[in-house]
Amino acid sequence: MADMVAIVGGGPAGMALALALHQQGIASEIFDARARGAAKNDQRILALSYGTRQILERLGVWHGVSATAIDTIHISQRGRLGRTRLTARDEGVPALGYVLNAGALAAELDAAVAQAGITYHDQQKVGTGATAQYALTAWAEGAVADDAATVRDYDQRAVLCTATTREPHHHTAWERFTPDGPLALLPYGKDKGNQYAVVFTCSTADAIQLAAQGDADFLARLQNQFGTRLTFATVGPRVSYPLGLRYRAQVVAARQVWIGNAAQTLHPVAGQGFNLALRDIRDLAQALGDPACAGDPGNAAALANYAAGRRLDRHATIRFTDGLTRLFSNDFPPLAHARGAALLALDLLPPLRSFVARRMMFGARAW
Ligand SMILES: Cc1cc2nc3c(=O)[nH]c(=O)nc-3n(C[C@H](O)[C@H](O)[C@H](O)COP(=O)(O)OP(=O)(O)OC[C@H]3O[C@@H](n4cnc5c(N)ncnc54)[C@H](O)[C@@H]3O)c2cc1C
Repeated sequence: MADMVAIVGGGPAGMALALALHQQGIASEIFDARARGAAKNDQRILALSYGTRQILERLGVWHGVSATAIDTIHISQRGRLGRTRLTARDEGVPALGYVLNAGALAAELDAAVAQAGITYHDQQKVGTGATAQYALTAWAEGAVADDAATVRDYDQRAVLCTATTREPHHHTAWERFTPDGPLALLPYGKDKGNQYAVVFTCSTADAIQLAAQGDADFLARLQNQFGTRLTFATVGPRVSYPLGLRYRAQVVAARQVWIGNAAQTLHPVAGQGFNLALRDIRDLAQALGDPACAGDPGNAAALANYAAGRRLDRHATIRFTDGLTRLFSNDFPPLAHARGAALLALDLLPPLRSFVARRMMFGARAW
């Protein structure tokens, strides 16, 4: 085990890391507290960027996933001027991103892990020190309590559901900022092309009330929150998740690394959490596969290089997500005007728009 990696947490980040390491010729074992396959029941709907698709393709887990392409992202604020549209055509990419079921992605990752012959120990909760015999412990155990993490509570929850509209979605995603928090509509499913995954952010108190509301009341609230550009027809069952920011200042230590939600848990406002996790995982596997590691995947210099190389993208993505959440979740008039002006400027300046689109697709290194 002196040349192996122990991955604590067999969620999407842990499984993706095992596959990326496997491609570098590095052996790993996964330990998860839950029964194997539990992640397949995750009913959340994720928006993944075009850059993430490229990483998943290289891991061999994209072709089996059913995903709805996002061709256009429409960004605006409720009741205020200013809006912008990002399009795949302007950026010269097949799609800006894709919308898919988190459980279906987990199922693909799980199948690829099995196919690669990677050992997955399920129902094994691992504590600190339990993996000391491995060259490296990769902590991928999600947003667990961690004294080393900085935490910001936004006092917000995301109410998630699907909804249909009278109009077809035309592969357009909507990001609408309201004083209560952002409302995102993601084109989802292929049936009649009129279904969206809804991420309705609101205060914790409001979320409890919304989750308990009947469909008709919730539809009316959704329509009011979104405005008149679309007409909502039906809505599915609602679930809600607490939202916050939680991140570690240091993502490496002696023979340890933290990835996925264990390294940083972000507000889903711009759908960046798993996208950032995969960019971390890609670079970590590359750093540990460097011949200079001489077969030791816990090599201190490689871990330090990895952390240094990821600092810009990681911090920029954390700041971007946190800034969006705080800047847009209020109705302070001067700020609302400044936001409107910023959205307008974005719309009028193609290079700036392209900068934002590429940043969301590929992270903070790609331009
Ligand atoms: C409402 C919402 C919407 C989101 N939308 C998007 C989006 O659109 N796009 C995007 O990119 N990201 C999105 N995210 C973020 C995305 O869901 C996460 O980045 C991703 O799920 C993180 O996966 P993970 O493997 O790090 O953690 P988890 O999925 O939490 O997995 C952790 C695993 O570790 C196991 N575990 C925990 N403790 C132990 C232990 N001690 N021993 C062994 N096993 C342990 C658990 O059983 C679990 O299986 C969203 C998040 C939320 C909350």
